[in-house]
Amino acid sequence: MYKYLPDYIAQGISDIDYKRLYDMGIRGLCFDIDNTLVGMYDEEIHKKALTLINNLKNMGFSICILSNASKKRTALIATGFGLEYVYRAFKPLKQGFLIVLRILDLEPHKCAMIGDQLFTDIRGGKKAGFLTVMTKRMNNHESLYVRFKRIFEDRIMRKYIKGIEKI
Ligand SMILES: [Mg+2]
Repeated sequence: MYKYLPDYIAQGISDIDYKRLYDMGIRGLCFDIDNTLVGMYDEEIHKKALTLINNLKNMGFSICILSNASKKRTALIATGFGLEYVYRAFKPLKQGFLIVLRILDLEPHKCAMIGDQLFTDIRGGKKAGFLTVMTKRMNNHESLYVRFKRIFEDRIMRKYIKGIEKI
């Protein structure tokens, strides 16, 4: 059994049952950027995603962005959403997640990491003690390195996906 499977899966950020997360005691949401909040290399923030983030703030969630992207790209997207952010996080290393906890002022078990990559978002989130939700990538315009990782990621997910609950 692979150790770092997501706790839950969802088609995309709009499909997640956030009320259920809230009822489970989750108060902090930590979003990945690329292929989770916006398309890979996309600089445009879609209205639907912006409305969702605003609704989640109104529901009482504290929200932060955690990205391995550059400062420039992370700041651009985070500012567009009006969110705090951690850039060049080196997920799956724990350091970025620890900064997120300081920003959100929450304990890890009250936070959910939401992202599209098993070996960075989910693995890092699990190591840091977050609840993890893996979303489907928004598009396939990814770097060679990410596409290479996807071969192994897809293999693991195909094997275990039936046992992972949708949320
Ligand atoms: Mg991503």
